[in-house]
Amino acid sequence: MGYGRDVTSDFEAQLRAVSMRVTRPRLAVLAALRDHPHVDTDTVIALVRANHPTISHQAVYDVLRALTDAGLVRRIQPGRATARYESRVGDNHHHVVCRSCGAIADVDCVVGHAPCLTASDDHGFVVDEAEVVYWGTCPDCATERISQ
Ligand SMILES: [Zn+2]
Ligand SMILES: [Zn+2]
Repeated sequence: MGYGRDVTSDFEAQLRAVSMRVTRPRLAVLAALRDHPHVDTDTVIALVRANHPTISHQAVYDVLRALTDAGLVRRIQPGRATARYESRVGDNHHHVVCRSCGAIADVDCVVGHAPCLTASDDHGFVVDEAEVVYWGTCPDCATERISQ
């Protein structure tokens, strides 16, 4: 898998914007998440090491944590599922999750910009983020169920 120069410089700009040094493991993790959103830690490690065998497991763990802390990567954990990571951040998007296989897809906010931030009763809290998870059955699992 080759990454174009423009994409790499995008990642470099993202890292610089949060005052992080541009390193090969950081670029590799961002590229893996761009191509494979909503993957768990083990999958990120496998994806990164497939292209860069010299990057250690521990390095990938450390990079994931640092990028999440910096806000370049979002950690999601629907229900009791394993934590997943994605590089689409800052747009308050939601997720639809398959109960059978755990497949996850992005769902944009329903009407324009962050309307879901308006709680019917905010109990006096200052709300700055809303996370909605839609649970259901993905098309693959639904087809399997019918054919059984
Ligand atoms: Zn499914
Ligand atoms: Zn997402």
